[in-house]
Amino acid sequence: MADKTGIEWTDATWNPIRGCSMARGSELGGCLNCYAARVAVRYSGAGMPYDGLARMTDNGPRWTGKVQVLDDDHLTQPLRWKKPRRIFVNSMSDLFHESLTFDAIDRIVAVMAAAKQHTFQVLTKRADRMAEYLTHPSRRTSVLYAGKALDLGNPATSSSWWPLPNVWWGVSAEDQKTLDDRMPFVIRALPDIAVAWLSAEPLLGPMDLAKWLPHTRETSQTSEHFYPGLHWVVAGGESGPDARPMHPAWPTHLALQCTVAGVPFLFKQWGEWTPDDNGTKVHRVVPTHHRNVIDTLAVRMFRAGKKAAGRLLNGREWNDYPAMAERTGR
Ligand code: SF4
Repeated sequence: MADKTGIEWTDATWNPIRGCSMARGSELGGCLNCYAARVAVRYSGAGMPYDGLARMTDNGPRWTGKVQVLDDDHLTQPLRWKKPRRIFVNSMSDLFHESLTFDAIDRIVAVMAAAKQHTFQVLTKRADRMAEYLTHPSRRTSVLYAGKALDLGNPATSSSWWPLPNVWWGVSAEDQKTLDDRMPFVIRALPDIAVAWLSAEPLLGPMDLAKWLPHTRETSQTSEHFYPGLHWVVAGGESGPDARPMHPAWPTHLALQCTVAGVPFLFKQWGEWTPDDNGTKVHRVVPTHHRNVIDTLAVRMFRAGKKAAGRLLNGREWNDYPAMAERTGR
């Protein structure tokens, strides 16, 4: 676990697995400039932690597709952290990668269940696998068995132990298509999720969240039906050498939709490009292209770098967390 992280919405990272590959549907989107692969390549020399897991190609840093589960010492690290933290699970991989068996995931989830003092933030692009995993009828039993095998004690001390109250299960999406492809799986798994969230980063297009935020809809003239949805939304632009700019209307529209729905919203960063003219030479015009969203004007974006671009959206920081965050006093 890394005690310090530059990721704005978490306190620490914990990587019980290493290695990844591009997720279906995100090869040219959210996975194209994978930050984790770029870091991994630096440590992929012989005998280094990512040896055989990542390599430099003509198209940039790429994962080899091999995935390793780390030893029990790495696996149980969060249990030795006494101070409550928000912990981003697998910042360098995807917990629901196809190479990982559900038995292996059970062991990781058992640690999260036992380390009740922390809040674990899981993020995946494999929402279908996450739903299959969480909704399996024997899931609670298999997590309990995994915990027992690791000698972690019994987390099922009350009937409210599941859905795990200290685990936020999130999906990552970069545009309307990836959002609409992945969110139905999150909705299906909602009964097994205490906090469901969306990370719209890198945000590469506008998103209409209407179907995925909690809402009511009239079913007849006299009655309406409540549709549950996301509990938290995070958005941010891309960083890194090949980062693509984010039209200001896209995060603005997400903030607006969340505000109207009463769902907490956190704006993480502009990333490499900012709409503020800070005097740098390079600029680019973001074309407009979308149905139903408010980016009717092209804008000039300026390459300022992540730090200088900052995280003010329409003159303010957006730092809201789901109400469950109060349980750890954050
Ligand atoms: S799923 Fe995440 S870690 Fe894996 S390749 Fe895509 S962006 Fe990188």
